[in-house]
Amino acid sequence: MDFSHYSDEPVRMAVDLVNSLDVVSGEEALQVPADVAAFIDSHDGDWCRPGWEPEDRDLHEVRALRSRLRQVFDAETDAGAAAVLNGLLADMGAVPRVSVHGAAPHLHFESEADSPARYLGAITAMGLSVALIEGGFDRFGICHSSTCEDVFVDVSRNHSRLHCSDKCTTRENVAAHRARLRAG
Ligand SMILES: [Zn+2]
Ligand SMILES: [Zn+2]
Repeated sequence: MDFSHYSDEPVRMAVDLVNSLDVVSGEEALQVPADVAAFIDSHDGDWCRPGWEPEDRDLHEVRALRSRLRQVFDAETDAGAAAVLNGLLADMGAVPRVSVHGAAPHLHFESEADSPARYLGAITAMGLSVALIEGGFDRFGICHSSTCEDVFVDVSRNHSRLHCSDKCTTRENVAAHRARLRAG
């Protein structure tokens, strides 16, 4: 069965959702319910759902989902990550449904009839599950920068990625260079 449509944007949605809270600085990107709608709308393709009007309860549920998604990255092993993901898939109501909205019938695991948190939960849990199946836990990373704990899924060929973003790589390279100059 082909789940490849869950391997790109849903993985990005999972990573972006976890990183919407900066756990080092405490900076919160999801401050009000409308931020949840903006978050969903900022993602492409099948996953964008304009017109949603989340409420306070949805905001709290999405933040709770975010904590559980971070546990996948904290899990350290395939088995640990799988246990968190299996819990999420069950709790978020991720069940296969045949969709005919595209060029050919294909499966979706989230339902628009669900709440925003369950909708996002089913998509992101599916995305991370596909990433785990395809690449193993080695692909799941937390930024090595001393000032950042954002997560990432490493799609580089040799699993060499250390940082969440080019911004962190550059900052760490500059810091390492300065440290060498001081030492030298
Ligand atoms: Zn679709
Ligand atoms: Zn980082």
